[in-house]
This record gives sequence, C-alpha cells and structure tokens, in this order.
Amino acid sequence: MSNRWVESVKKNLLPLSKEKTDLNQALSEWFYTGDTYDLTRPEEDCELCDHPGIRFQFEIKNQHTKEVVLIGSECILRFSISAIDDEGNVLDQVSTTKKVHQDRRKLISNARTKRVITSLVDLSQKDKEFDDINNSIEYFQERGAFSPRHLLFLLWRMKKSGVSFNKTDFKMTIRRNREKDQLLAMKDWEVRKIKPAMSAAQQKWYQENS
Ligand SMILES: [Zn+2]
Repeated sequence: MSNRWVESVKKNLLPLSKEKTDLNQALSEWFYTGDTYDLTRPEEDCELCDHPGIRFQFEIKNQHTKEVVLIGSECILRFSISAIDDEGNVLDQVSTTKKVHQDRRKLISNARTKRVITSLVDLSQKDKEFDDINNSIEYFQERGAFSPRHLLFLLWRMKKSGVSFNKTDFKMTIRRNREKDQLLAMKDWEVRKIKPAMSAAQQKWYQENS
C-alpha cells in the first residue's frame, strides 16, 4: 500500500470506526453490504481513498458504529474488505472478489438496459408509426437483445426520427431457428446495417452459413 493511500484511508476511516489508531484493525470492522449505486457519470470521489472519477459506488458498513461509506469497487479488493451475502454470511476473499465483479457487471448491464429503454421511449414520442413500444421493451427486458428484423426496424426508425442511441447497446439474438432464418433471408445491405449489433461469434456464424 502506498503512503498516499494509507494516509487518505486513515483520515477517512478511523473517525468512523471503533478502532481509532490501527488501520488494519479498523478495516476489519467494515463489510461490503452488496448495495451499489450508478451515478451514470464518473463524478464522485471514493470516500475511502479519495480517488476521483467514481461512477459505480459500492457501500461498505461498519459493524460496530453502523456508519456507511461509498467507495469504488477496486478499494473493496485493495483493502480486503469482506462482502456479506444475502443470508448475512461473511464471504472469503475469493467469493468477495467474485461478488464484486458480478455486481459490477450487473450495474453495467442495468445501465445498458436503461439506455435502450430511454431510446425506445424517445422513439415512440417522435415516431407516430412506432406503436409497438411495449412489445419492444418487454422483448428486450426478457432477452437483452432483439431479433434481426426487429433490430433492423428499430435502428432504421431511430435514425430516421433523430433519436440518439448507443449503437453497441442494441444487441442481436439468433438463438432460435426462426431468428437464424430471418438473418439468412436478409439482403446484404440489411445485414450491413445491423452488423455493429452482432457479436464476433454471430458474425462468424453468418459468414459460415450465408
Ligand atoms: Zn478508493
């Protein structure tokens, strides 16, 4: 641990802990609660090490003082703070690391879902012919992706209506046979339009089967 870090962590954590002098002892009073927040922008400082530019906040809590502090996920791992699972059990370092990574992935995926829904709502307001918004949202929430035809339709309508969207948020699914057939029946220019939404595996599959 570099000195700069230790000084920040001491300054931030000791006043909120039961142990007032020994940092390692104080750190052992804290647990990662599993509560996380997405600020949507990297605009906060880590309340443990003062590192700036935190977007995803992870909550740690002191078991004695009940104080809570919002920190970056790296700090949970850096200072070996243990996580608590849903049943209240303290997790070891391996399980804690797994949980932190899982929770982080979930935050990123939830943020993507939110952006896609925002774009669809925007489209339904700008494009009067787009009347199947509820179906589109339901489909996306269930599967996290769209069928090839559905995707082509949405990308086309959003572009036409001037809806801003993040191209890589819109993913395609071809798990069902009817979705595979749909893709294979598309014209070249149509496939080119949805290509940014295709994974590397999907592109490879398309090349081998078209
Ligand atoms: Zn930090």
